[in-house]
Amino acid sequence: MSDCLFCKIISGEIPSTKVYEDDLVYAFRDINPQTPVHVLVIPKKHFASIDEIDRAEDREIAACLRAVRLIARHENLEKGYRVISNCGPDACQSVPHLHFHILGGRKMSDQMA
Ligand code: 5GP
Ligand code: ZN
Repeated sequence: MSDCLFCKIISGEIPSTKVYEDDLVYAFRDINPQTPVHVLVIPKKHFASIDEIDRAEDREIAACLRAVRLIARHENLEKGYRVISNCGPDACQSVPHLHFHILGGRKMSDQMA
């Protein structure tokens, strides 16, 4: 997707602070962190959101979640972390490229929404 912000981050056209990469996944620090650790994990193939996950291969989905685990370990989040994927307008999704937020580094609210 040539006009997608996160596709441009994957290609390097827009700079980012990379924390992890493999053949299926790219992960980088959120530009506006909500917690001491705030990383975005995205599939390299473009899907707008979880709502389009029927188009994804199982290995692409699995690679994202395995990357979450690796990054959490690397970022020393042994006390816990939250994984969020906003999907669509009611969830306030602002970038239409599937992404998983990893939030951690402090105790979070017990309110989820
Ligand atoms: P959403 O609201 O779609 O769930 O999350 C999009 C996230 O992307 C937001 O947390 C926002 O701060 C982050 N973001 C938006 N533009 C950029 C950017 O250019 N670089 C980085 N690193 N993060 C971005
Ligand atoms: Zn994209």
